[in-house]
Amino acid sequence: MKDLQKELDERKALHLYRHRRISEGPQQPEMVIDGQTVINFCSNDYLGLANHKTVKQAFIEGVNKYGVGSGAAHLVNGHSSAHHALEEELAEFTGYPRTLLFSTGYMANLGLAQALVGKGDTVLEDRLNHASLIDGGLLSGARFQRYAHNDAEQLEQKLEHSKGETLVLTDGVFSMDGDIANVPAIARSCKKNSAWLMVDDAHGFGVLGEHGKGCLEHFQLSKDDVPIYMATLGKALGTSGAFIAGSEALIETLIQKARPYIYTTATPPAVAEATRASLKLIQTQPELRTRLNDNIAHFKNCAAQLKLKLAESRTAIQPIIIGNEEDAVNMSEQLFSKGLLVTAIRPPTVPKGTARLRVTLSAAHTKSQIEQLMEILTTLQNKLFY
Ligand SMILES: *Cc1c(COP(=O)(O)O)cnc(C)c1O
Repeated sequence: MKDLQKELDERKALHLYRHRRISEGPQQPEMVIDGQTVINFCSNDYLGLANHKTVKQAFIEGVNKYGVGSGAAHLVNGHSSAHHALEEELAEFTGYPRTLLFSTGYMANLGLAQALVGKGDTVLEDRLNHASLIDGGLLSGARFQRYAHNDAEQLEQKLEHSKGETLVLTDGVFSMDGDIANVPAIARSCKKNSAWLMVDDAHGFGVLGEHGKGCLEHFQLSKDDVPIYMATLGKALGTSGAFIAGSEALIETLIQKARPYIYTTATPPAVAEATRASLKLIQTQPELRTRLNDNIAHFKNCAAQLKLKLAESRTAIQPIIIGNEEDAVNMSEQLFSKGLLVTAIRPPTVPKGTARLRVTLSAAHTKSQIEQLMEILTTLQNKLFY
């Protein structure tokens, strides 16, 4: 048996040790964390729906109607009319024939790869894809290859030499960098080479595009360009879970074969009811997206004036690249002591030498909260600036 404590100590010495802070109360810009009041710049609750009164009301009514637990997996008797209605509404909204709910995005990504490809097939992935896409590809048993970040030309070369069924997986908005995948070029290459393409739009769904339909709407693409679309519900929609959208045959295949779908308890029906309310707000309150986009613009303007070293991103994810793990962790700690919650992201989540402070913005932030962030950033080491 190996010495676990020794391994943990080594991790600490490398500034790679992770620990959890304890938060009180709901997800919102001002929170009490580890007993301290802070402004939160690390949540994925981009539209402020996690604590929205309409969404909470739908959740409570859902509990009154369905109770709490779903009681079983979807294929036993856990598939309620709430889940079913949400799947139909997501299909209508995304423009795909059908959608399938999963309990988490991580499970959706494991299930999709494993249901579509296996030994003798090929999975191609962007080097900076989310861990769940990478794990899904590795666990599928197919030959697994990565292509350089957002490099559609390199992808095309790999596609020309790929064997068996080929599945290409990419984040829509890259979760640690905030840049948007070149989906039009990737989709063209996949079509030309008869490869499956799935876009994981965890950070685009609800926020990108005029109607919040995500990165496909952003690029004016449709189901004919991207046969499989996946998004999560725990980010902009403020609830929990995920869905995959695709053809009738794809969804039926997932129901038959995706083990992380089949062998798990359905999420509480009330969560589906809350998500239905979020989906309605996304369609009826475009001002939520306007407010988020105004906040992103305000942040970027202030950052440009201060000459802050930002990554190239126009989404709600705005990384400030630091480089070394120790500096990133120290700065995150200093920010916390000054009342700001900004997480340090380190390897293996991001490549070595690109440790960063990852700022995320929300429609719920006020301009003055963004200005406070800027003011406190200027008191830190000048490494952050050009
Ligand atoms: C958050 C995230 C997931 C995982 O979704 P969960 O519902 O949190 O399991 C998958 N893909 C991407 C790109 C994500 O950012």
